[in-house]
Amino acid sequence: MVRMLLVGPPGAGKGTQAVLLSEAFRIPAISTGDIFRANVRDETPLGVEAKSYMDRGEYVPDSLTNALVADRLSHADCERGFLLDGYPRTLDQVRALDEVLAAQGNHLDIVVELTADPEIVIQRIRHRAASQGRTDDTDDVLRNRLAVYTRETAPLIDVYGGRGILASVDGIGAIDDVTGRIMESMSAHGFSA
Ligand code: AMP
Repeated sequence: MVRMLLVGPPGAGKGTQAVLLSEAFRIPAISTGDIFRANVRDETPLGVEAKSYMDRGEYVPDSLTNALVADRLSHADCERGFLLDGYPRTLDQVRALDEVLAAQGNHLDIVVELTADPEIVIQRIRHRAASQGRTDDTDDVLRNRLAVYTRETAPLIDVYGGRGILASVDGIGAIDDVTGRIMESMSAHGFSA
């Protein structure tokens, strides 16, 4: 049973690791990016609104994002833990998540930060752009996403560090090696699959 989140710059490998960790810990992986992309694909009102931000590499407004996650966390499959991938990303989202969890008498157990050098991240995303065709993986948009991450999301690292629940893990290397590092770090914090 673990309530965790994965944080790190675009291209650090959060999505890949989220799937593997969710299987290992048998908890749902909740990716706000995937939920937004599904809504864009289905042309829902949320998707139409989110697309304009995503295509520019900007964050979708907190009000929309917070409501989406609060709803998702109320589903029964989250009662035995969850892995948030890419949320929270702003200090306002941290507060909103704290409130949702506190209302259930819960709190976050651990925050795994995947670290990655920006130049390596850019190379990885160029590769992903070629294979997956994401519309926000172009060079200009990517540079903006990295800048937005540094401005809006990097400050969260200190917040969670201050709470003593931060585990920083080197995100560069073979997928299985990175998963192994995350598992080791989580087990040092008392969470084993
Ligand atoms: P990702 O797949 O996590 O890289 O997310 C892709 C895009 O979805 C981001 O660049 C944002 O536009 C949007 N997005 C995903 N998660 C969030 C979030 N927590 N807050 C605001 N926007 C988000």
